[in-house]
Amino acid sequence: MRAVRLVKVGQPLQFHDVPFPTIGDFDVLVRVRAAGICHSDAHYRAGKSPVYPLPMILGHEVAGVVERVGSRVTRVKLGDRVCLHYMVTCGNCYYCTTGNEQFCEKGKMIGHYTDGGYADYIAIPERSTLILPDEIPFEQGATLMCASATALHALRKGRIRGGETAAVFGAGGLGMSAVQLALALGARDVYAVDIHPAKLALAESLGAIPVDASQTDPVAEIRRLTGGKGVDVSLELIGLPLTMKQALRSLSVFGRAVMVGIGDRPLEVDTYHELLGPETELIGSNDHLLQELPLLIDLAQRGTLDLSRVVSRTIPLEEGPINAALDDLEHFGSEVRTVIVP
Ligand SMILES: [Zn+2]
Ligand SMILES: [Zn+2]
Repeated sequence: MRAVRLVKVGQPLQFHDVPFPTIGDFDVLVRVRAAGICHSDAHYRAGKSPVYPLPMILGHEVAGVVERVGSRVTRVKLGDRVCLHYMVTCGNCYYCTTGNEQFCEKGKMIGHYTDGGYADYIAIPERSTLILPDEIPFEQGATLMCASATALHALRKGRIRGGETAAVFGAGGLGMSAVQLALALGARDVYAVDIHPAKLALAESLGAIPVDASQTDPVAEIRRLTGGKGVDVSLELIGLPLTMKQALRSLSVFGRAVMVGIGDRPLEVDTYHELLGPETELIGSNDHLLQELPLLIDLAQRGTLDLSRVVSRTIPLEEGPINAALDDLEHFGSEVRTVIVP
């Protein structure tokens, strides 16, 4: 089958013809119909986050059709449309049995520690499959599995409540979901901070109040727009110390800043003025939980979460366009979400 793999860190991904994946008794073989390209994939290619073993088929935002099932598979059947929870987990360890399988002792993220979706097929445990309703196109189903899921988990970590205000730093693939999900969870006002006019316009059309950080200091602007109070919850989806700092400094008293963006530089915090004084919280958020995915699929099925304009481009399963899409992410380009359609 066709696959695009990371062979050497710091080098472009390479197209290879590879053997079909084999499936175990509890696994299913999925024909990939869509695989999202995520900012994390650019980090993996650059070596900011280790990937092993190499070569590795990247891609952790995957939707497709079940084409073969193992002998002990009971819930899904041939021909089912599915999207994939990107963790391959054991289902039996302390973390799995307490609903926190993202920390599974044997957990492996697809496209990171086991082969992912930049390919014609992927093998995955039935446990990691979710039925994708007909109303949701494959490209959107794929994007739900990481960008939207990460945004929902971050909002839950930030304990957003009805009537509160939120700020989303970074109006990309995650940010567009974060804006809509914050509103769906009852946020009164959601500010979207970015430097790309087109992304800000899209965020605004999805219900956000745009804040153009290329024209204004976003902290001062958010304070102005909230009557000096600041926001209850801020999400940092970029991974730069500057925007992490802005997310923290945009908070109201008792505000919660959730760090989601992957960065390789530390954040310096003035604990007295930024944490203790206003009793704010600085919270880490990583991945998402399997139990959060049915809600996301439901919200997408009923149109509350609209990804139709978030998936801004589809490309074929070829190394050239995939590497170009990763370059665009590395340079914080204007694309919102690029999805591979094999
Ligand atoms: Zn991702
Ligand atoms: Zn486990």
